[in-house]
Parts: sequence; C-alpha cells; structure tokens
Amino acid sequence: HKVIPVRIQQVLKEVLRLTRSTIPSNIEIVQQIQHDCGLVMADPTQIHQVAMNIITNAFHAIEFEGGIITVLLKEILLEGDDLVSTSLGSDRYAKLSISDNGHGILPELMNKIFEPYFTTKGQGKGTGLGLSVVYGIIKDHKGEITVDSEPQKGTTFNIFLPIMKKTS
Ligand code: ADP
Ligand code: MG
Repeated sequence: HKVIPVRIQQVLKEVLRLTRSTIPSNIEIVQQIQHDCGLVMADPTQIHQVAMNIITNAFHAIEFEGGIITVLLKEILLEGDDLVSTSLGSDRYAKLSISDNGHGILPELMNKIFEPYFTTKGQGKGTGLGLSVVYGIIKDHKGEITVDSEPQKGTTFNIFLPIMKKTS
C-alpha cells in the first residue's frame, strides 16, 4: 500500500462527488468540514473505501422522506468521553463522523456489525463485508472506530485517525 500524507477533506470531497450521483436527491447531505484539518499518514484509496462504505450504509438505512446524512470532519485533541470510548491515547486526531437518521441498529446486533459476512440486508443485497473492511483499514492506520445507534432514530460512526506530527 502507498502510505502518504493525506488530506481527509480532499478524499471526502471526491467520495461525496461520487455518492451524490447515486444517492437520490431527496436525501440531504450536510457537510461540516474543517478545511485546515491536519494531514494523516494513510493510503488514500483505503480511506476513500472507508468513507464510501459508511456513506453507502447510511443511504441504505434511510427508507423514508426526509433522510439526512451528515458528514463531519474536525481535528481534535482526543480527551474526555471520546478518549474513554476508544483504545487510543490522548493525542491529535482527525475525527470523521458520518451520521444518518435512518432505521438504526438493534442493540443486540451492535457487536456483530463489524464481523465479515454479517448483514441484515436481503439475499443478494448485502455482502456483509463493508464494515469488516472498514474496521481492518482503520486498525491498519492505528485509528479507532466507534458507533452510536438508536433504533428508529439513526446511527453515527466516528472514526479517529492520528494526525501527522509537525516537523519543524
Ligand atoms: P452490508 O452493507 O453488505 O450489509 P456492512 O458490513 O456494510 O454489510 O454492514 C453490516 C450491517 O450493519 C448491515 O447489514 C446493517 O444491518 C448494519 N448497518 C451498517 N451501517 C448501518 C447504518 N448506517 N444504519 C443501520 N444499520 C447499519
Ligand atoms: Mg455495507
């Protein structure tokens, strides 16, 4: 893999351009992108895959009018609740949050969604590989992924990737 300094905001721009053409226009995509977010050492193709898989799942979870997908990127100092919910150390991270107001995930399935071949989608519809691939990529990049979900309310995936140390 080709690991280089990556601007996540650039990757998101590309993914959103591609998904905008497949996601129906009645689903609103809200973006809150911190444009001066620091660089992450990463394989850009893999980060593209991560964002694509999660945004695609968000779209699939919305089965009604008024669907909203929110894509949020900001540079954070990991602390407080975020630090507790991850296995990471306190440091600077790019936090990418992708939320939807779709059907949510049942609490008893939350520990299954990252397993390969786990899917609740009909036969021939889901491979159940999307999130297992996402998980592997995030771990390879020394990052972390957390998920908050409430049935009938929606789901948020939070991804933390370490920001490159400034060399000066
Ligand atoms: P697939 O999309 O092929 O089913 P994934 O690994 O991408 O496989 O996702 C696994 C399962 O996790 C999905 O089938 C679904 O049950 C659940 N899931 C993932 N993302 C969401 C989401 N945003 N909202 C509700 N359920 C989700
Ligand atoms: Mg999927």
